[in-house]
Amino acid sequence: MDINTIRKDFPILNQKVHGNPLIYLDTSATSQSPVQVVDAMSEYYNEYNSNVHRGVHTLGTKATDGYEQARMKVRGFINALRYEEIVFTRGTTAAINLVARSFGEANISEGDEIVVTEMEHHANIVPWQELAKRKNAKLVFIPLEEDGTIKLENVEAVMTDKTKIVAVTHVSNVLGTINDIKSIAEIAHRHDAYITVDGAQSVPHMSVDVQDLDVDFYAFSGHKMLGPTGIGVLYGKAELLDKMEPIEYGGDMIDFVDLRESTWTDLPVKFEAGTPMIAEAIGLSAAIDYINDIGADEILRYEQELVKYAYDKMSEIEGIEIYGPKEERAGLITFNLDGVHPHDLATALDSDGIAVRAGHHCAQPLMKFLGVSSTARASFYLYNTKDEIDFFIDSLKRTKEFFTHEF
Ligand code: PMP
Repeated sequence: MDINTIRKDFPILNQKVHGNPLIYLDTSATSQSPVQVVDAMSEYYNEYNSNVHRGVHTLGTKATDGYEQARMKVRGFINALRYEEIVFTRGTTAAINLVARSFGEANISEGDEIVVTEMEHHANIVPWQELAKRKNAKLVFIPLEEDGTIKLENVEAVMTDKTKIVAVTHVSNVLGTINDIKSIAEIAHRHDAYITVDGAQSVPHMSVDVQDLDVDFYAFSGHKMLGPTGIGVLYGKAELLDKMEPIEYGGDMIDFVDLRESTWTDLPVKFEAGTPMIAEAIGLSAAIDYINDIGADEILRYEQELVKYAYDKMSEIEGIEIYGPKEERAGLITFNLDGVHPHDLATALDSDGIAVRAGHHCAQPLMKFLGVSSTARASFYLYNTKDEIDFFIDSLKRTKEFFTHEF
C-alpha cells in the first residue's frame, strides 16, 4: 500500500481547515471518496445519464448495464451466491427497515422474541422495537461484558424456542468490537431463528463472505466504503427474499398491473420501486474496484497498524477513558478526556484542522451502559497516516491542558 499514491486520489484531504492541514478522523460517520468514484459518477452524468430498465435507446441501455454491473460487483465483493440476492437501498438504515417491515411483518407473531445487543446503532434497534410493538413481540438483549464484547455463551443463553430473529452488528461503531458473526449465525440457526447483520462498519474495512458467515440478511452503506451517499445494500438469501412482500410499490417493481390487482416482478427489482440510485450504484461499483485493487486484507492490516499505534499513544494520556476492547478492535477509538466535554474537545480539535465525531453516535442505549451521555470518536481508514495520529495526540494533550489548567 503506497500511502502517498493513495492520498493523491483523495483531493479533499489536501486542504487546510482553520489554517491547519485537514486531518480527517471521522470515516465511521462517512468516508471520503477517491477521484475514481467521483469520475465514474460524473462520467455517467456527462455521457449516459438515463433511466434504467425502461427504454431501448442507447443511453438507457448503457445506464442499465452500469447499474446492473454494479450489482454484480457487489455480489462478488461479499461473495453472495446470486445477483438476485443484492437489493440496492438508500443505505444500511433503509435495508434494516426493509427486513423488519417485510420479513419481520410476516414472520413475527405475538409472544415471539427478537434478539439484539446493547451495542446496536439506533438503525438496528428502533425498527425492531417498532416491529415488536406492532406484533406484541418481545425484544431480548444479549448482555455486554465490561470491555464491550459479547460472550457466545450469553448469545446461547438468551435463545429460546420463541426466538425468531437475531439482529446484531458485525462491528460496533462506538466500541470497535468485532462480533463473531459466523458463530452467532450458527447459534441462531441451531435454534431455528434467522440472523440479520448490520454490516455498516465491517464491509468497508474487512473482507466479508456472506456464504461463509451463513447469514440470512446483511446490510451496509456505500458512503462508509469510499462510495457516495444515498446508496446501500441489502443482501438476503434468495429463498427468503423470494417469499417476502415489497414495502414500496410503483414503477419498475411490477410484473402486471390491472385497475384493482397487480403482481410483482422478480428479485431483486421487486424491492426497488421507482427510479433507483443509478449514479450512486455506479459510484459504489468504482469504490469496490478501488478497495479490490488495494485488497480488503491489506486495508485491514494497515488500519490495524494505525489503530494499535493510536491506542497505545492515547492510553498514555492522563485522564483518558477509552471504550471497547483493547485487542481485536476495528479501526476506531471512542473515548472521553476527564474534565473536557466531548463537544468542547471536538471543537478544539477542529480548530487544529482535525475532524472527529462527538455525541452519542446514534447509540443512546450503549451510552447508558457506558454511564456517559456522549463521547468523542476518532476513526481511521486507508488514507490516514501515523503522522496525522501524532498531530492528533498532540492536539488532544494541548486541549486537555487548556481545559484542566488551574489559572
Ligand atoms: N449501523 C452502524 C453500525 C452505523 O455505524 C451506521 C452509520 N453511523 C448505521 C448503521 C446507519 O447507516 P446509514 O446512516 O448509512 O443508514
